[in-house]
Amino acid sequence: MTLKFYNTLSRTKEDFSLINKKEVLFYTCGPTVYGYPHIGNYRAYIFADTLKRVLLYNGFKVKHIMNLTDVDDKTIRDSKKEGKTLREFTEFYTEEFKKDIKSLNIVNPKKFTKATDYIHEMVEIIEKLLHKKFAYKSKDGSIYFDIKRFSAQGGSASGGKGYGQLSHLDMSSLKKNAGGRIIKDEYEKDNIQDFALWKAWDEKDGDVFWNTTLGKGRPGWHIECSAMSMSNLGEQIDIHTGGVDNIFPHHENEKAQSEGATGKQFVKYWMHNEWVLVDQKKMAKSEHNFYTLSDLRAKGIDPVAYRFWLLMANYRTRVNFVWEALEGAETALKRLYNLYLGLGDETGNINKEYNHKFKNYLEDDLDTPRALTVLWDVLKDGNISNADKKATVLDFDKVLGLGFADIKTEKIPEEVEKLVTAREEARKNKDFKKSDELRKEINSLGYEVKDTAEGPRLQQL
Ligand code: AMP
Ligand code: ZN
Repeated sequence: MTLKFYNTLSRTKEDFSLINKKEVLFYTCGPTVYGYPHIGNYRAYIFADTLKRVLLYNGFKVKHIMNLTDVDDKTIRDSKKEGKTLREFTEFYTEEFKKDIKSLNIVNPKKFTKATDYIHEMVEIIEKLLHKKFAYKSKDGSIYFDIKRFSAQGGSASGGKGYGQLSHLDMSSLKKNAGGRIIKDEYEKDNIQDFALWKAWDEKDGDVFWNTTLGKGRPGWHIECSAMSMSNLGEQIDIHTGGVDNIFPHHENEKAQSEGATGKQFVKYWMHNEWVLVDQKKMAKSEHNFYTLSDLRAKGIDPVAYRFWLLMANYRTRVNFVWEALEGAETALKRLYNLYLGLGDETGNINKEYNHKFKNYLEDDLDTPRALTVLWDVLKDGNISNADKKATVLDFDKVLGLGFADIKTEKIPEEVEKLVTAREEARKNKDFKKSDELRKEINSLGYEVKDTAEGPRLQQL
């Protein structure tokens, strides 16, 4: 089977093939470093990481770049609120982000690129767009992308459908706002207007500005990713990822301005992860319904359990976050760890049949839920040796990133496991006296059992 990925551009699953035959050119829209990302944001980076791991597992070389947005409306607003320089402020959150992704077993990209290191490259693209008349300067000195002109000229290099191809826009809303401009980085689909490539300095920017051939000002958000992607990976790349809310306006605008400047198709496969919800609403800072990795740690939950919980769903399905589900995932992950720890020290050969199944599932647009069922099957199979199981699990973990080679907990003794099962049985039979006695016995062996909706949760005292 060949790798198949769902391409947002065509809205279909497509066979994966490389542009340059050498390596996968892969760009991920990284965080805006103005606060602690919430766990919804981390779905975007866990998805990109899984995709990268699957590509590597399939023998591809991968050149992966992730940006850090360290200048935009939000970073300027909040650094001023805290009375810090933009750099001081964004560097702090950059370091926190790097610690967080490590705790989620996310493999670092080949390079993190900071937007403020690419101002010159952004200016160059904007100059090209001005030259081709896909951009114009407004009275206040800001520079905007001319959507109508771009669309009228055949627009996009990938299909000639102009603006709106990626997000399947109803262009009648463009007509409604014809001639309008939007300076803000983020806006909704019903507000399509010419967007800012370069923002002329105003008082709110304080000391955040660059003196360039375009005038005194700063870049818009969208141009940042075009410049960082093109500078590091070239004018055409294979894969660009982000969450679905990046499709519009961010990726639509990145695509328009990049293809406007080069006349070439910017990205072959656009791939987007779906949302993490809370009470069926998108987890978002603005909704005040978010959790961070610190909230998980405060409840004694290892961030890797969150990774595991996400892998239980396909990246293109929405998942509703509830603590009980995460605790259930953690219990399941600990069971997997425990089964693994019981395999002994010897490592044998990767089981070919299971390996084939596992790979097939992942090749089908990263079907991680089914890939995980293969992991359970291996660990429970009575017909293969422990050494071979160990080799197979370690091989799968190259993709799953659950950290089997480096498990921090110790194996739960069989005696304790038996007591936990017996206590569950007693509770089911409403024999609470016996279940209490068994709990004490478990405690005396250095463990504590907690009852959750997802079953008993065992922790070391
Ligand atoms: P931002 O820092 O707002 O640009 O977001 C960083 C990444 O997180 C982007 O790829 C977003 O699309 C993604 N994202 C934001 N909220 C969620 C959510 N609730 N669920 C999944 N991904 C999200
Ligand atoms: Zn981006």
